[in-house]
Amino acid sequence: MTVLRKNLIDGEWLGEAGSRNINPSNTNDVVGEYASAGPEEAKQAIAAAKTAFPAWSRSGPLTRHAVLKKTSDEIMARKDEIGRSLAREEGKTLAEGVGETIRAAQLFDFFAGETLRLSGEMVPSVRPGVGVEMTREGVGVVGIITPWNFPIAIPAWKIAPALAYGNTIVFKPAELVPESAWTIVDILHRAGLPKGVLNLVMGKGSVVGQAMLDSPDVNAISFTGSVGTGKRVAAASVEHMRKFQLEMGGKNPLVVLDDADLAVAVDCAVNGAYFSTGQRCTASSRLIVTEAIHDRFVDAIKERLDKLVIGDALDAKTQIGPVVDQTQLKQDEDYIAIGRQEGAELAFGGDRLERGAPGFYLQPALFVGSTNAMRISREEIFGPVANVIRVKDYDEALAVANDTPFGLTSGICTTSLKHATHFKRNSEAGMVMVNLPTAGVDFHVPFGGRKGSSYGPREQGRYAMEFYTTVKTAYTFAG
Ligand code: ADP
Repeated sequence: MTVLRKNLIDGEWLGEAGSRNINPSNTNDVVGEYASAGPEEAKQAIAAAKTAFPAWSRSGPLTRHAVLKKTSDEIMARKDEIGRSLAREEGKTLAEGVGETIRAAQLFDFFAGETLRLSGEMVPSVRPGVGVEMTREGVGVVGIITPWNFPIAIPAWKIAPALAYGNTIVFKPAELVPESAWTIVDILHRAGLPKGVLNLVMGKGSVVGQAMLDSPDVNAISFTGSVGTGKRVAAASVEHMRKFQLEMGGKNPLVVLDDADLAVAVDCAVNGAYFSTGQRCTASSRLIVTEAIHDRFVDAIKERLDKLVIGDALDAKTQIGPVVDQTQLKQDEDYIAIGRQEGAELAFGGDRLERGAPGFYLQPALFVGSTNAMRISREEIFGPVANVIRVKDYDEALAVANDTPFGLTSGICTTSLKHATHFKRNSEAGMVMVNLPTAGVDFHVPFGGRKGSSYGPREQGRYAMEFYTTVKTAYTFAG
C-alpha cells in the first residue's frame, strides 16, 4: 500500500495522485505516489508565501531558532529511516543516504545558531549628529528549485538559511526524489512554521518551475540543476529584476603529480569519480596525470574498480548503487560510445550489469589516452565515467585543469608544498582540494564555483546571508 504524499500550500496538504516514485535499484518497487501541482497551485503557493512574509520576517530570532533546531533534532533522530528512504528513491548507498541525512540535520542546526548571531553595523555619519545603521532584512518570497542528486542536503542548505534570515519559501524539488523533499517539509511544518511560510509544490519543472520563474511575486530564486535550466532561471530573473543564484555543472579536474602518494591519489580518484555513482556536480571527471606515475596510477585504479561492489543501494555491502534512471543511464552510455568514437581507450568497465532485480546498473568506466579537447573531457556526463589525460609536468597539468568552461572544484595529489600552494592560488575553481577528493565538502563554509558552474553569491556557511538578505542603510538625526 503506497501513501499519497500531497503538496503543502498555505498550511494545507492538497492535491491528487500525479506521479510515481520508482526505486532505481529495483524498478518493480514503487516508493510512493505524489501530487503533481499545476500552474494554479504554484500561483496559490506564491500568494501564500507573499502574505506570510511580513509577519515571518519580523518574527523574533527565538521563533526561527526553535523551528530550525526542532527540525534538526527530528532529522537526526530519524537519520537511519530517512537515509534509507533517500537511498531507495535516489540509488546512492545506505551509508551515503544516512550521511547525507546527517548533513541536512547539521545544516538546520548551523542556521538555527545563525538566527541568534544576526548583527548589523552602526557608524557615525559624515554629518555631525547623524547616525548610520546598516542592517540586513529578508528578501521576500524565495523560490527554491532543486535537483535529484542530493535529495535532502541541497533542499536543506537552501531552506535553512532562507528561513533563518526571515524569508518565506516556495519549494519545488526534482520529480525523481519527492520523498526526501516531502519528509523535510513535513518535519518543518510540524516543527511549528506558520502557514504559508514554507510551501511545497511537487511537479514538473516545465510547469511548476516555469510558473515560479514567470511570477513577479517571487523575489529571489535559488537554483541547482543543469546549465540549460540555469540559463532560463537567469533570463526570467533579469526580466523580473529579482535576485538569483545558480549552481550548475562541473567538469572537475584531479591532478596527480609524479611525487604523489599513490595510495592517496587512488583513494581520491576512486572516491571523487565514482562514489555516489559519479552523480555529483563536484565529481572528478578528468584525471590529469603526469608521465612518470601514469601507468602505476592507471593500474592501481583498475585494480580498485575491479573490487568495487556494485549493487542494490539498500544492501549494506554495496559501494556503488545504480544510476538514477533510464534517461541518465542512456546519457552515460552515449558518452561512453562518444569517448570510443573520439579515439579514447576504454581501459575498464562501461557495461551494463545484471543484478537480482531490474535496475539501472552500470560498471564504472575509465578511459585512458584521452585529450582535453574530446567531448568526454569538456561536457558534464554525470555518471560513473572518468577519463585519464596524460601530461608532461605540473605546468601542463595546471593549464589543462583550467582549460574548461566550468569551475566548481579542482584537486591535486602531490607531496610538494610548492606545487600544492601554487595550485591552490592558480586553479580557476571555487573550491580547491589538496590530497582530498574533489567531492566532499564541509557544511559551515562557502560552497560554489566560477565560470559556467555557478552564478551569484556563495551558498552555505555565513556566506549564505549574502543571497538570502538585502542590506538596509538607515540614517537618524536625533535632533
Ligand atoms: P537535471 O539534469 O539535474 O535534472 P534540470 O535543470 O533539468 O537538471 O532540473 C533541475 C531542477 O530544475 C528540477 O527541479 C527541475 O524540475 C527544474 N526545472 C526543469 N525545467 C525547468 C523550468 N523550465 N523552469 C524551472 N525549473 C525547471
